[in-house]
Amino acid sequence: MDGSGNMQTDLIDSSSEAAKGWRSFAAHLFAPIKITWGQFFDLLVPLRHSPHIRRHAASVIISRVQLVAAIFAVMVPLWSIIDWFVFPWPQWAMMTVLRLGSGLIFLLLAWPWDLSKTRLQADSMLMVMLLVPPVFYLLSILITDELHVTGIALLVTKLYALMPNIVLAGLAIFPLTAFEVALFSAPAFVFAVLGLVIGGETLSMDQHGPMFWLMVLVMGVAMFSGMSQLHYITALVNRAMIDPLTGAYTRRSGGEALDLQFRLSAMSNTAMSIAFFDLDKFKSINDTFGHEEGDKALKALAENLRQGLRRGDTLVRWGGEEFVAILHDTSPEGAKILLERLRSTGFGNRPDGAPMTASIGVAERLADHAQDWPQLIELADHRMYEAKRGGRDRAVLPNEVTLVFGDKPIF
Ligand code: GH3
Ligand code: MG
Ligand code: MG
Repeated sequence: MDGSGNMQTDLIDSSSEAAKGWRSFAAHLFAPIKITWGQFFDLLVPLRHSPHIRRHAASVIISRVQLVAAIFAVMVPLWSIIDWFVFPWPQWAMMTVLRLGSGLIFLLLAWPWDLSKTRLQADSMLMVMLLVPPVFYLLSILITDELHVTGIALLVTKLYALMPNIVLAGLAIFPLTAFEVALFSAPAFVFAVLGLVIGGETLSMDQHGPMFWLMVLVMGVAMFSGMSQLHYITALVNRAMIDPLTGAYTRRSGGEALDLQFRLSAMSNTAMSIAFFDLDKFKSINDTFGHEEGDKALKALAENLRQGLRRGDTLVRWGGEEFVAILHDTSPEGAKILLERLRSTGFGNRPDGAPMTASIGVAERLADHAQDWPQLIELADHRMYEAKRGGRDRAVLPNEVTLVFGDKPIF
């Protein structure tokens, strides 16, 4: 998405011969993966994911937690029937209480609550689901510890000891970064160690030693699987959300971003501006220099706008050569300063070297008393046309403020 070449070209840039050799070898190894270092970094740690990716991953995580929890909500209490043949009365009763308790937690997780599907919700639900089996495992050790179990009972007890591994293997179905898989694996490891400490004779070191090794392996597989799923989701979401030519959000995803920003701004009662850009006399670039030159100019414009915006601002390609910038926490005065700065660094040049200009309409939630985001867009669009009529290369802001950039109108 950042357009910075693929891993192969990144790797081949080097000065010394030896480094060149190693790098081309590495490039050869990594060639089938075809991801950039930046994309790889995003699979390792969740530091730079866009809100869209975060939201989609969260919704996948929640629906999978609910599916797995629904299965467990039935299976875990049902297993009591098998326990009946394995454990004597008091232990069976205690195990059944434990099973019903776990079943209830799974049922609550699986329940179709009306969730807003934030990342925090997804992570908390996942963590609770991952904590139930190890806690269950630990308590089951305490319950069955004094039993000198043999035969089939021994087999079942040993199955319980596999619980942490099952939890780790289960992590493989979630789209997570490597760091997150490690984090979510931590409870399984802690409980496996605790199990070793309190497990006594039934579960000894010679069973646990190989199990820890197996746990690390299973975690490794879960990491690989989680990263692949995240990569897949990112690619799909980006394809739907990002305009391939300019790297700006598409109109559809821009609408979602506007909706979210508008609600956040209304909730915190902060300002929110949008700036509607329409390039001036853009058709003549296509007509004079060809469509490809027009495309290049659009790409350059988007790049320039992105450079000039703050990190939290969002650039949307609203139509052919129309862009909307969503400026969070920005008053009309702030928008004015931003536009002056953007215009002075420039929107890029036309193929003949002349600077590109735009007509811009700005609307702001508070100053315009907007009730919803479509109203903001409508106002900004309307002001953009006013800027066109006024002579182009200018911005019309709330309260009839007009910013004229160039010295002469472009009619
Ligand atoms: P003005 O806005 O100043 O009135 O004049 P204009 O020539 O820019 O007029 P308008 O906004 O109506 O023109 C839009 C033009 O943008 C029409 C189309 O040729 C061009 N365009 C739209 N999308 C693309 C695109 O993806 N690539 C290229 N090269 N051109 C595009
Ligand atoms: Mg237009
Ligand atoms: Mg135009």
